[in-house]
Amino acid sequence: MSTPVTLDTIRLAPKVLLHDHLDGGLRPQTVIDLARATGYSDLPHEDPDELREWFAAAADSGSLERYLETFAHTVGVMQTKEALTRVAAECAEDLAADGVVYAEVRYAPELFQERGLTLEEIVEAVQDGFREGERRAAESGKRIRIGTLLCAMRQNARSAEIANLAVRYRDAEVVGFDIAGPEAGYPPTRNLDAFEYLRQQNAHFTIHAGEAFGLPSIWEAIQHCGAERLGHGVRIVDDIKVAEDGSVHLGRLASYVRDRRIPLEMCPSSNLQTGAASSIAEHPIGLLTTLRFRVTVNTDNRLMSHCTMSSEFAALHEAFGYGWADMQWFTVNAMKSAFIGFDERLEIINDVIKPGYAALLG
Ligand SMILES: [Zn+2]
Repeated sequence: MSTPVTLDTIRLAPKVLLHDHLDGGLRPQTVIDLARATGYSDLPHEDPDELREWFAAAADSGSLERYLETFAHTVGVMQTKEALTRVAAECAEDLAADGVVYAEVRYAPELFQERGLTLEEIVEAVQDGFREGERRAAESGKRIRIGTLLCAMRQNARSAEIANLAVRYRDAEVVGFDIAGPEAGYPPTRNLDAFEYLRQQNAHFTIHAGEAFGLPSIWEAIQHCGAERLGHGVRIVDDIKVAEDGSVHLGRLASYVRDRRIPLEMCPSSNLQTGAASSIAEHPIGLLTTLRFRVTVNTDNRLMSHCTMSSEFAALHEAFGYGWADMQWFTVNAMKSAFIGFDERLEIINDVIKPGYAALLG
């Protein structure tokens, strides 16, 4: 007999997460502890519950200014090596406790230099934290592996430098590169040098595209820059027409994305906060899943969007009735799309994901 789908049973299911920001997933108590330890005095609350509420409310407010303020605080308390290591270790522990077996966690090293850390010190502190978190998870009987993606900020001009950093640390579990930050006014082609360098180095990258901004951003990311995956990519629905009789027509770009199996790193709860969708039930993930795009489910910012991988799956179950077979499909899609080796991906699919869902399916 199949196990009933609840938030608790979803936590037991093996899950894969490809789009999660390190500075968007801190524990509220850790924000408070690190503010005290590093002399950061701008936090709006000193109580962890009030702070948790404040982060969620600011991110829900619809105001970009308030949304960005949330990151000013998390980034503000992560300016020392010790802070970076702690946040990374807790990230791995929290994901493992939620049943995530493989995750790619991203951050922009250039944001953590306010107190003089070098880019190398930042990367090494975070990698130390991920290894520590994996070790602690293993001690509590949970298996997790974390790969790192280094982001460059679109509004700055450091993408070539950060791409080079990612390549230098690729044998230390830095598995790829991304660009993050405001989409409008900062098209992916501004960073063409970085993407050409990465391709010449046989390195992997994804690009935040098609979240706030539409099809041109997606088209540039894929056809000019060579992105292997799309961060969000929700606006690909602008190139899909559903007629009154239910028949569907895909434009050339949408066809290309589907035909080439380009993974969409979809983040439903986060998209509600940025206005890309008005409810989970109306989120394009439903249509894109029906049309069998290579859809993956992700958290984006667990603190700001007060979500986990399990709560995202639970929300999709509630909105669309997705069961274990659908959750396995999302999970295998994500694992196939990860930036680690083919043999390593297959091993996790065959040894962890399939047996995990087989047990739940009964
Ligand atoms: Zn993101």
